[in-house]
Amino acid sequence: MSTATTQPALELRGIAASPGITSGKAFLVDRARLEGRQFVLEPGEVGGEIRRLERALDRSRNQVQALLRRIEALGGGAEHTGILEVHLMMIEDPELVEGVSRRIRDRLINVEWALKVFLGELKESFSRIDDEYLKERGNDVDQVGQRILQNLLGHRESTIAHVPHRSIVVARELLPSDTIHLLKGNIGGFATELGTRTSHVAIIARSMQVPAVVGVDGLTRAVSTGDTLILDGETGRVVLRPSDVQLKEHRNRRRRLRRKQKVLEEDRHLPAITRDGTRVSLLANVDRLDDLDALEASGAEGIGLYRSEYLFLDGKRIPGEDEQLDTYCELLRRMAPHPVIIRTLDIGADKALLEEGAGRHSRPNNPALGLRGIRYTLRHPRLFEPQLRAVLRAAACGPVELLIPMVSCIEEIRSVKETLNRCRIELEADEFPVVSRIPLGIMIETPAAALIGPTLAREVDFFSIGTNDLIHYTMAADRTDDRLAYLYQPVHPAIVRLFAEVIQAARQAGIDVNMCGEIAGEPLYTPLLLGLGLRSFSMSPMAIPRIKYVVRRINVADAEAVAKVALAGTSGPEVHEWLLEHHRRLFP
Ligand code: PEP
Ligand code: MG
Repeated sequence: MSTATTQPALELRGIAASPGITSGKAFLVDRARLEGRQFVLEPGEVGGEIRRLERALDRSRNQVQALLRRIEALGGGAEHTGILEVHLMMIEDPELVEGVSRRIRDRLINVEWALKVFLGELKESFSRIDDEYLKERGNDVDQVGQRILQNLLGHRESTIAHVPHRSIVVARELLPSDTIHLLKGNIGGFATELGTRTSHVAIIARSMQVPAVVGVDGLTRAVSTGDTLILDGETGRVVLRPSDVQLKEHRNRRRRLRRKQKVLEEDRHLPAITRDGTRVSLLANVDRLDDLDALEASGAEGIGLYRSEYLFLDGKRIPGEDEQLDTYCELLRRMAPHPVIIRTLDIGADKALLEEGAGRHSRPNNPALGLRGIRYTLRHPRLFEPQLRAVLRAAACGPVELLIPMVSCIEEIRSVKETLNRCRIELEADEFPVVSRIPLGIMIETPAAALIGPTLAREVDFFSIGTNDLIHYTMAADRTDDRLAYLYQPVHPAIVRLFAEVIQAARQAGIDVNMCGEIAGEPLYTPLLLGLGLRSFSMSPMAIPRIKYVVRRINVADAEAVAKVALAGTSGPEVHEWLLEHHRRLFP
């Protein structure tokens, strides 16, 4: 498939959002962004503007409801309808109609202007939240805003009706309303300018098992419909107008990937045992019940991290004790006889403050260092206690364990235990069957917790090392700031030493230690972690087969030699390079 064009090849980089590699013709979705006019009203015009707003909201609601019905009729599941339901919720939120109307009345500005001001403020509040998922909701605010504006201006909805067979869809962003066409079509892959791993297009791509790359700067300016593209969902590369040499290389790589995939498939149901017979547990990180479908095929031996915050963030309201109990029991039933580790609500500083109302702390200077995880839930017993009660009651459904995020001192653990005890006594008084105890663990994701590992190990049943945050806090580098990506150094000497100390502290105290941050699912680090003594890894279900592949082909003595080299290292990038070479030698 050579390109006849005289323009040179161009390589763009983005975020690998859904694995797999492909090549094909681009189909560019070119959507102009709508902008409304802005003008000041005469007082007598206010009522008319508010009626225009109400009509546009009505039309927007009807359109989204119709889309939902059509997607459901096409067999699209919750992963396809979820985002549209969030949009519907935003459109129906009384705060929207009241907030925009108030701005029209108070400032005497037209509806398009008032809508822009209101949504701008809402988006700004999302952007300050140190959470990738919530940041993504800022994108939903934009999409909902465009839909309402389209209805105010009387524009027709633009969709991507006719995508040619096996095309690679290229867009600034894809809208939930595109889902219908994506579900129908036979799409080769997606590349978008906006988006993160948790954005709508990434979720859809993963559920359709097609490669996707998101967050590619300058993509829509560079690509035209019909251009040949190589899309690499493994590395986040998009090659535009590839040369014959690049296409040949791509075809070879695809063949190698297919062969690798086949080997991984073969190992899937074999145990994760090293060549010298050491047993390793490979567990799954799960954010939503929908993830369980992928999990059954992955060979996971339990859930090492259930991020319960999504239960609170996805829905229209905060789930009560019984609703949480249903979800936890469903997880336990589907994973039986394997254990499920439920992490209590881990949300960031700004979310708490939005609920508490604007106050003197409404804009903390350092949200990531603020009221997050256990700090937040201990201050909000009305949120924390129903969750603890639900987990305690869920123990009747299967082997459940409790995990506490963002711990930095022993007092936090003691407060959790007191609250847990109080909940248990209340449940017994209410005659609920309660097991005598459930294992209690803590995330080790602050340097403080890592450094007092031996002390904390006496208080709990297990540790779970959260490498994403442990690296972010140890390197003092915001994990969401791409300008600081060079400081995300999983094998920086400080980080390797902390891993070693935490694993050692747990082993000496005779408690379990697991790792649930991203690097637990990256094969490059598997020998090092095994060599440091780690025997339990929790990761995205998709990563399990490849970690099993590595585990089954190394032995612990060699892994210990790797750990020794890493511990003696003086620089993160140097150790990384050394690990890469070692990995290539082992798995040419
Ligand atoms: C981590 O910090 O490594 C972790 C697993 O937790 P989260 O990514 O949810 O903060
Ligand atoms: Mg964390």
